[in-house]
Amino acid sequence: MEKTLVIFKPSAIERGLVGNILTRFQQKGLVITGMKMMQLNEAILREHYSHLVEKSFFPLLLKSMMASPVIVLCLAGKDAINVVRLMTGATNGREALPGTIRGDFASSNQENIIHASSSPEDAEAEIARFFAPGEIFDWTPANTPFIYSSLELN
Ligand code: UDP
Ligand code: MG
Repeated sequence: MEKTLVIFKPSAIERGLVGNILTRFQQKGLVITGMKMMQLNEAILREHYSHLVEKSFFPLLLKSMMASPVIVLCLAGKDAINVVRLMTGATNGREALPGTIRGDFASSNQENIIHASSSPEDAEAEIARFFAPGEIFDWTPANTPFIYSSLELN
């Protein structure tokens, strides 16, 4: 199954939204294969947001992402990267569609609740950045035949 990385940002932690969002992912049929709390630092954020380091808002983004511990999550599922991005919604919470996580919980471009990997290349690099190999568990829930058809499992 495809894997993707999600980060519950300080905006989710501080606002007590972790349970609600985790429930959404589980209800969708995505499988938790890794989960832990950690405090991010500038070094890991400079890697993770390397495409943004030159932006004028980058210092504010750093401060925002270090404002509390975060929870990192590795989710598995068929087309998990795209499915989770669709559930996440547009970057700016004010433009994210209702029904998406950002659409329902965010009113900000910065304080937008979660991070989600945006491509297979990013997902692979991000999972390796935040998890040691032994922290990812490849398991198959017993309910898998009720989440996907046998055709979809090939
Ligand atoms: N961000 C911001 N201002 C912007 C654009 C992005 O503060 O104008 C922050 C925001 O928290 C976003 C993160 O930088 O989630 C990463 O930006 P990216 O464009 O990769 O958006 P995402 O993939 O998170 O939707
Ligand atoms: Mg991004």
